[in-house]
Amino acid sequence: MRVNGLTLTYEGGVNTVLGHPDISYPVGNLLCRIFQGETLYNISRIVRNSIGMCPMWDNALTQDEIEEAERYILETLLYDDFFPAQRLAQGSIIRCMEEYRSLDRATAAGLLTQEKQRPVSFDWLFDDIGFETVGEFLRLCYNNYIIDLTNGIDLFAATSAVWSGTATDEEQVCYDELCAALHDSSLVPGIVMQTSYDATSSTFEHSFVISSFLAMAVFEFSHMAESATKVMRCQNPECRRFFTAKRSSAKYCNYPAPQCPGRTCNDYYPQIVYREKVRTSELDKLIKNAKGRLYNARRRHPDWADEINKKLSDLTIYAPIKRDSVLDGTMTMNEFREWLDSH
Ligand SMILES: [Zn+2]
Repeated sequence: MRVNGLTLTYEGGVNTVLGHPDISYPVGNLLCRIFQGETLYNISRIVRNSIGMCPMWDNALTQDEIEEAERYILETLLYDDFFPAQRLAQGSIIRCMEEYRSLDRATAAGLLTQEKQRPVSFDWLFDDIGFETVGEFLRLCYNNYIIDLTNGIDLFAATSAVWSGTATDEEQVCYDELCAALHDSSLVPGIVMQTSYDATSSTFEHSFVISSFLAMAVFEFSHMAESATKVMRCQNPECRRFFTAKRSSAKYCNYPAPQCPGRTCNDYYPQIVYREKVRTSELDKLIKNAKGRLYNARRRHPDWADEINKKLSDLTIYAPIKRDSVLDGTMTMNEFREWLDSH
């Protein structure tokens, strides 16, 4: 069986793409980049489109046709925006084609029945699947690709949420279910370890060919569990993406900030927080001054005390609400000053 996929070596907390010593990622980093970028969606769309346009669609499924179809899929996936994600996607669909092409008739029929029963709630799945023509076969493999991708993303999101201590109840339940399921090692497809002997250094070198999204997530989390690297969730409320860090005090990620895509959250958001703080204290000072004026007036005019007390309590109740309106931009600074002065 042909093995195709993302080939990594792992040493000292760093993943390096085999044959590309310059392409390396600290543990966890690849996972966050692969599962939180646009790349996967772009790649999956390309796979789907190329299957839809497959020139061999009606051809009967023979071993030669499968060879041709594999070549066709690999060529349509020469998408080099983010090399590791591209290799993983190629590996995932080729693994599935290789597994399915080797099935005997009875097993294939059983599998097909099972695959046709998949809940219709996955609207990305094809239902015209089978082992008769290349088109049906590719659609069957694509369905498996999407299931594996969904499993990988689910495991990534749930585990990151729990490990970063930011899980919602729903994410916790998802994590517990996935962990229980992963006791069964046959559920994690697609990691092949290859060992080679390096005569010059007299050492053995291990590399891992990863050809499944779920396996990629398991591979990275298993290494993260024993390293000092932590998964964190970005505290920019509009981002909330996961990232990895050595320090547990890290707050913001290094991905483009949703509010300002030209800058990273780490660079952009602390400034916003600082500006907001300065602005808040500036507004609080104005409120304090307005109250101070009323206290003075009450001292000077004890006979107006009732009316002044009413104004003071109005300020106490409504000033914080008005201040928040200024902060979120629904009230202007001038309107706020006028409102304070009206007391
Ligand atoms: Zn962020």
